[in-house]
Amino acid sequence: MNYIDPHIHIAARTTDDLALMAKMGCVVVGEPAFWMGYDRSGTSSFRDYFRQLTEWEPKRCADAGIKHYAWMGINAKEAEDVAFAKEVVAMLPEFLDRHNVLGVGEIGLHKCTVNEMATLKSLVELGLSRSELLLFHTPHLEDKYKGTRMILDMLSEDKRVDSARVCIDHCEEHTVRLVLNEGYWAGITLYPTTKATPSRAADMVEIYGPDHILVNSSADWGPSNPFAVPEFIAEMRRRGHAEAVIRKVVYDNPLKFFSQSKNFNFQPAE
Ligand SMILES: [Zn+2]
Repeated sequence: MNYIDPHIHIAARTTDDLALMAKMGCVVVGEPAFWMGYDRSGTSSFRDYFRQLTEWEPKRCADAGIKHYAWMGINAKEAEDVAFAKEVVAMLPEFLDRHNVLGVGEIGLHKCTVNEMATLKSLVELGLSRSELLLFHTPHLEDKYKGTRMILDMLSEDKRVDSARVCIDHCEEHTVRLVLNEGYWAGITLYPTTKATPSRAADMVEIYGPDHILVNSSADWGPSNPFAVPEFIAEMRRRGHAEAVIRKVVYDNPLKFFSQSKNFNFQPAE
């Protein structure tokens, strides 16, 4: 079955991973800008990273037969220094204008501090002022409910927000309902240890239905699995779900979400 991994950090993966992902049916990936494991020393490091995400990684993916799209943003982990983050935000329009960028992401909260919130608001303002899609990272387990609530409250206060153009990612059992109830796309990350697993994601699809749910590997440089979406497909098949239901989650839904971006020009095979 063809699938889309809507959230994966290709820059941290090998060419062998890409070849195997393609063999397993991956046709499109979305790569949000994120924290590379260390704080950048200056804005030029961000510039190089944004170039990598819009120039080099699309090429590596194309060589494997996968269409690559990027998201531009500054992660909450580097949003604490508001003045520095401001310089990075100022650089974003140039990259958002690139032909293979879907929107502003991944942005969000990590420790839910005042400074993180200030940077997040400036990123949301930039995205809304340009009618960009928005992709939100939600914090790790101990802060997840609080951070998700803070993000949803911020969005609900702004009348310009169209929930169909927003994905709240890394949802778990205690946040997925909040996100779906307010009309957003809910991303579920399949991780070997933290976040959700393929079987927990299957449970959530069984409880809430396949509408507005996206599953992704968020595979990066840490313990993660670039083949997590195929594992979810296998788990759903094991449980006897119809192919159409599985395809909705791993293909139709991300296609629908991404297609709202003027830069998404992937042509599905008939
Ligand atoms: Zn990520």
